[in-house]
Amino acid sequence: DASLKQIEKTKSLNAFITVTSDVALKQAKESDQRFLNGMTRGDLDGIPIAIKDNFCTQGILTSCGSNMLSNFLPPYDATVVSRLRDAGTVMVGKCNLDEFAMGSGTVDSIYGPTKNIWGSNIPYDVTYKPNHKMSSSKPKVDPEDWRIAGGSSGGSAVAVASGSCFAALGSDTGGSTRNPAAYCGVVGFKPSYGLVSRHGLIPLVNSMDVPGIIARSVEDVTLVLNAIAGPDVNDSTTLKRKYEKVSLDEGVNLLGLRIGIPKEYQNTAIDAEIVDILKKTASIFKECGANVTEVSLPHTPYSITCYSVLNQCEVASNMARYDGLRFGIRGDVTISTEQLYAETRSRGFNEVVRSRILSGNYFLLKRNYEKYFVKALKVRRLIKNDFDSLWDSNFDILLTPTTLSHAPKISEFKQYDNQTQCVTQDYCTQPANMAGIPAITVPVGLSREGLPLGLQLMAPVFHENALLRTALWLQ
Ligand code: GLN
Repeated sequence: DASLKQIEKTKSLNAFITVTSDVALKQAKESDQRFLNGMTRGDLDGIPIAIKDNFCTQGILTSCGSNMLSNFLPPYDATVVSRLRDAGTVMVGKCNLDEFAMGSGTVDSIYGPTKNIWGSNIPYDVTYKPNHKMSSSKPKVDPEDWRIAGGSSGGSAVAVASGSCFAALGSDTGGSTRNPAAYCGVVGFKPSYGLVSRHGLIPLVNSMDVPGIIARSVEDVTLVLNAIAGPDVNDSTTLKRKYEKVSLDEGVNLLGLRIGIPKEYQNTAIDAEIVDILKKTASIFKECGANVTEVSLPHTPYSITCYSVLNQCEVASNMARYDGLRFGIRGDVTISTEQLYAETRSRGFNEVVRSRILSGNYFLLKRNYEKYFVKALKVRRLIKNDFDSLWDSNFDILLTPTTLSHAPKISEFKQYDNQTQCVTQDYCTQPANMAGIPAITVPVGLSREGLPLGLQLMAPVFHENALLRTALWLQ
């Protein structure tokens, strides 16, 4: 009840596409009943969770924020959704996103943009307050020029930051979980590729997509991870061995922990106050016994260009399934099958999706394939090798900014097209997806204007224990 009331109270932020009140109340009653029957209940039993609207939920609208799927009721649940249900959680709703998760602001959804709670006129008493404040000023409220939530999982981040739910699932292909979490002052976690099933997550870039988790604390993220991770017969890319739950009990031993600060992440577009808080955090780690050194990941600057080629190629292929015949909307044309496809696809997709399909198909033309797609795969390998050479030199953790600034205003963000937005927004987050490694953003302070700032930690693939324990310490 409290959760549904809070969703109603914060409706103007537009975090939810669908509020699943009936499902929530039914699941909550079942959870109460388990309690009354004296059954042992797990940590997440009865806990309200929200789901990004690109995870299939049986019989419940799964729109991807797109006109194309505005009538799509999936016949099955994504694996992560059914695992959360099995853990006894209560699904309160489906969250807003950029169309098909292509974006970094949650401004490109047919259901309208999601607004950040920071800088809005919703009272702040429900939001998470970072421990290490830098500023005590409150962000100015401008109803016309609000702060973006970040994206593409902006709905999920705002749902958590506004106190509407305990945690929310996002998806992360280039930073879509970490970017909005950083802008909303909450924790955003991208697991290792293969740790959490993608079955039922409507694909953007199959080779990089992972379900992400957003919550107020590292402990909460860990509880959700432990409920959803592990092998899945429906996703052949999940790890084969049994999942060992992450335990935070032991904490991290900072003595001798090797932390690298990659110099390439502080590019020329970064705000001075982010560099400042990064340096402060590095020196706190050092004072407490960690071995902190500057390191180099030389191919970082090529990551975004390489990503956009790979992204568009996979998008071109993934989007081919929306033909107006099997599911989703259908164009109103009977002249020919080609006309039907064309009508459906131009009506169903926004400009961002259409342009990615066009460029992806261009990169995949026989005459261009080697020049763009194969070349981008090679660059991707170099980016991964950069990380591997640091792990081989016994680095345990990398510390970087999550974003280059605090949440921009909508007017600032809209000055650029989608492609340019991604270049800035995904700069620090995207390389982790290239390498398949786990990464987390933790809120560490407030900017001078009173907006949240986050820092990112990364670790070798499947080293979730080390990553989450270090993040817990930082939090
Ligand atoms: N901003 C990136 C894109 O638009 C990443 C999106 C994501 O992680 N889903 O492709």
